[in-house]
Amino acid sequence: MKSVRLDDVSKMFGTSVGVENVDIDVKPGEFFTFLGPSGCGKTTTLRMIAGFYYPSKGKILFDNKDVTTLQPNKRNIGMVFQNYALFPHMTVFENIAFGLEVRKMSKAVIKEKVERAQKLVHLEKYGTRKINELSGGQQQRVALARALVIEPDILLLDEPLSNLDAKLREETRLEIKRLQVELGVTTIYVTHDQTEAMTMSDRIMVMKEGVVQQIGTPQEIYNQPTNHFVASFIGESNILEAEVVEVKGDAVKVKLDDDIFVQGSMTQTANGKKLSVGESIKVSIRPEAVFEGTGPNQVTGTIQFVEFTGVSINYVVKVGSNIMKVMIINKGNEILKRGDSITLHVPEKGIYLIGE
Ligand code: ATP
Repeated sequence: MKSVRLDDVSKMFGTSVGVENVDIDVKPGEFFTFLGPSGCGKTTTLRMIAGFYYPSKGKILFDNKDVTTLQPNKRNIGMVFQNYALFPHMTVFENIAFGLEVRKMSKAVIKEKVERAQKLVHLEKYGTRKINELSGGQQQRVALARALVIEPDILLLDEPLSNLDAKLREETRLEIKRLQVELGVTTIYVTHDQTEAMTMSDRIMVMKEGVVQQIGTPQEIYNQPTNHFVASFIGESNILEAEVVEVKGDAVKVKLDDDIFVQGSMTQTANGKKLSVGESIKVSIRPEAVFEGTGPNQVTGTIQFVEFTGVSINYVVKVGSNIMKVMIINKGNEILKRGDSITLHVPEKGIYLIGE
């Protein structure tokens, strides 16, 4: 396992920007995810690490060795693509063996390594099957075995689950994570799916339009989003316009529209800006941070929509001119109706100031 460092890396396509000024330091054995909407530059960044694109600016280092312009086949990386890129008329064995044959290993060594890789992904009995006789999930596992069989220093996965149905995606997610932990291989994973990113990663890099928005653990990204984009892309969030009316000790009081005041326990925004009275800011409140009944930061509103998911009762509530999404854990409590009045409160630590 090796570390991967990107040092101020940019990629231009003609005059348009693919990615801009990416700085990351992936530790040996880490599971690191690039997350963002379509076109944000995830694949471009991964392709530069693989060596399919060279950066327009900046350096790429594996274990402090400069690989910026090294050819892909000299980087010892394993890669799984969204469409798997398998040879459809060849068998499972032949597909997995391909990279070893290119490396001119002996037949006996190849047999041993391929069989071990088949076992790793639970395809021991499928060696003689053709790829086009396999299910999508099985093909995905062949692609994974093919990437792992060469014992890569770095594993690169580009949306490897997007062709699977929801149930299989969930199972395979766990399977990939199990393998990664077992093998300890440094892994970089590309996805636009926040659940995949949250459940699998040690750290996540959130990107938008070629620019890094935040790098952090799943918990940091969720609990301390640095801006509006991250707060709304990862999970759900109520983002409300507010004005600072008081800063006292380690508490800040802000005013929402309609003279609703709430108190938070932080005096600077997520991106480190000190707050002062009169300033306009944005407040992020997660739906699950809002509770029914009386308590701190209490407001009253009118229910506009009700949704019952089994796990939770979700309300959309009009509070003054603001719309708040509220998620109440279902404990068999009474479900209110559209038009009903509801009293809500938010503990101070549920009020998070994102600044922009
Ligand atoms: P997706 O999830 O849709 O694959 P992505 O986040 O992986 O998106 P990229 O494929 O990295 O995004 O693209 C980033 C930007 O660079 C986009 O604006 C895209 O149009 C542009 N781009 C990517 N590859 C090329 C190319 N070969 N030539 C020109 N522009 C490109």
